[in-house]
Amino acid sequence: MNEYDSDRLVESLAGSHGYRAIDRPEDADVLLLNTCSVREKSEEKLYSQLGRWRPWKHSNPDLLIGVGGCVASQEGEAILKKAPYVDFIFGPQTYHRVSELIDQTVSTRKPRIDISFPEIEKFDCLPPRQVDGPRAFVSIMEGCSKYCSFCVVPYTRGEEYSRPFDSVITEIYELAEQGVREVTLLGQNVNAYQTVNHRGEAIDFATLLRYVNEIEGIGRIRYTTSHPLEFTDELARAHGELPSLAKHLHLPVQSGSDKILARMKRHYTRKDYLQIIENVRSYCPQISISSDFIVGFPGETAHDFRQTMDLIDEVEFDHSFSFLYSKRPGTPAALLQDETSEEEKKERLYELQARINSFAVAVSDAMVNTVQSVLVDGVSRRRDSQVCGRTENNRVVNFDGPETWQGQFVDVRITAAMPNSLRGIAQSHHQSQEIVSN
Ligand code: SAM
Repeated sequence: MNEYDSDRLVESLAGSHGYRAIDRPEDADVLLLNTCSVREKSEEKLYSQLGRWRPWKHSNPDLLIGVGGCVASQEGEAILKKAPYVDFIFGPQTYHRVSELIDQTVSTRKPRIDISFPEIEKFDCLPPRQVDGPRAFVSIMEGCSKYCSFCVVPYTRGEEYSRPFDSVITEIYELAEQGVREVTLLGQNVNAYQTVNHRGEAIDFATLLRYVNEIEGIGRIRYTTSHPLEFTDELARAHGELPSLAKHLHLPVQSGSDKILARMKRHYTRKDYLQIIENVRSYCPQISISSDFIVGFPGETAHDFRQTMDLIDEVEFDHSFSFLYSKRPGTPAALLQDETSEEEKKERLYELQARINSFAVAVSDAMVNTVQSVLVDGVSRRRDSQVCGRTENNRVVNFDGPETWQGQFVDVRITAAMPNSLRGIAQSHHQSQEIVSN
């Protein structure tokens, strides 16, 4: 999400001031930091980065420094106290106002702060997308209203708000015209998407997927992240019915213990989660499933952890994200007692990651000798005569082929599974349709 926000910010500043992103920060006129506060250390990282920039500001007073994102949203004015050489502060919902903040800072010579939550307004103010390459993110909703006890997101990004349907669809049409073939619909809990179209008809997430599936040129749809709450039967069914919807589901579970799920305020049980997986698999048996896990949540016993490990064995998750619990100031879980040592928690995390990795290796091995649809997105890093792309379950595949295949779907027979990628041989490639813009 931060990557998406940063890209949009760059596009917005290109339109308003003609700025462009450069590789050498020491040559910049404006330095921007986009921060994330889901786990700790981000504040420390922020101040150490700002410390490195301080001498540049000292030698060039015209240099502008801006801090944005969730740490900015949380810390606000405190940043100016600790780093008075910062010029402006913006939140995840106000990055479309950065060009104004820059102008105000320059004209008043005073630091500015805008960390309000005007939510969806930003999409009306941002310029049309300019993308390079066949894959793009599309934000469909903002914020989070789930208030899981460990998580800082509702306080830094505000409550859930669905972006208007017409604006999402228009953006995807425009992306397809620019050569985008795969979109990832973005939000904290995309399946909470709920809005109406211009005729006043209700549009939920499964319906939105059906419309996106119809957009010419878009051959693959992904979404991240969804939440086990509001995972409807229609959404499960969409995985079996929509040809463009990737046969891959990333559905965060966090823990396999009902006691811990209740303490996390996730509002579902292990059984509920397993039922969703069973239902999705009944519509789409070959779907690959990945998840997020938090290890060492306060009160997690060895028994609770075993239940998480059992769940992993039962579902056979593919590549997943797992994190040590990180205490976030202002969240309810920060007040919970915790007796487990850091060492024990790290051992649990290591065990969990090793198990998930063994399933990921098994999935890659099982792909050898199958034919996979690969969206080519570049030339291989190692050999110029090879191109690379991704399968539906997000494996990188390298294979012989001309550069002109970039942006196209190619059927590839997988010949070998390596630790971080696959090798293959092209079987056929589908010439992508010419999309004519009027
Ligand atoms: N909204 C999705 C959900 O909750 O199902 C996930 C979005 S969340 C911003 C991304 C992931 O960060 C979570 O799934 C969780 O595993 C991790 N995370 C959030 N807060 C955390 C914390 N305090 N400590 C460790 N991991 C955390």
